Amino acid sequence: MAYNKPLPVPSAESKPFWEGCRRHELLVQRCRACGKHWLPPSALCPECLSTEWEWTRASGKGKVFSFVVYHRLYHPGFKDELPYAVALIELEEGPRMLSNVAGDVKAVKCDMPVEVFFEDATEEVSLPKFRAASSGRP
Ligand SMILES: [Zn+2]
Repeated sequence: MAYNKPLPVPSAESKPFWEGCRRHELLVQRCRACGKHWLPPSALCPECLSTEWEWTRASGKGKVFSFVVYHRLYHPGFKDELPYAVALIELEEGPRMLSNVAGDVKAVKCDMPVEVFFEDATEEVSLPKFRAASSGRP
């Protein structure tokens, strides 16, 4: 089935992030000068403005910082997904990113532990999404 929802258009700065997603790896930028981790991608460390940074693989674990549940259809591609949760996820490493929390929207709560998984939307694009963390399961 063709994917009928909006897809990210990688910029020069975010291309490595999306390439990581394609490999099912969640990447964040890490400053070599001060150690800060951040997203969204930028050419300078937002903390100390250093240009000495690297992409590093995040644990994929985090928590729900804030969220909303969409009950109304704003894009026809989401017709079969209502209601769905859009959440600001705070990663273990610190950066916050917008994503979805999969599963029962009634179970989504602030501070809920979540972990990343990847949805292969197309041949080229995989989307990082989150679900309740499997507590202790391998
Ligand atoms: Zn820095």
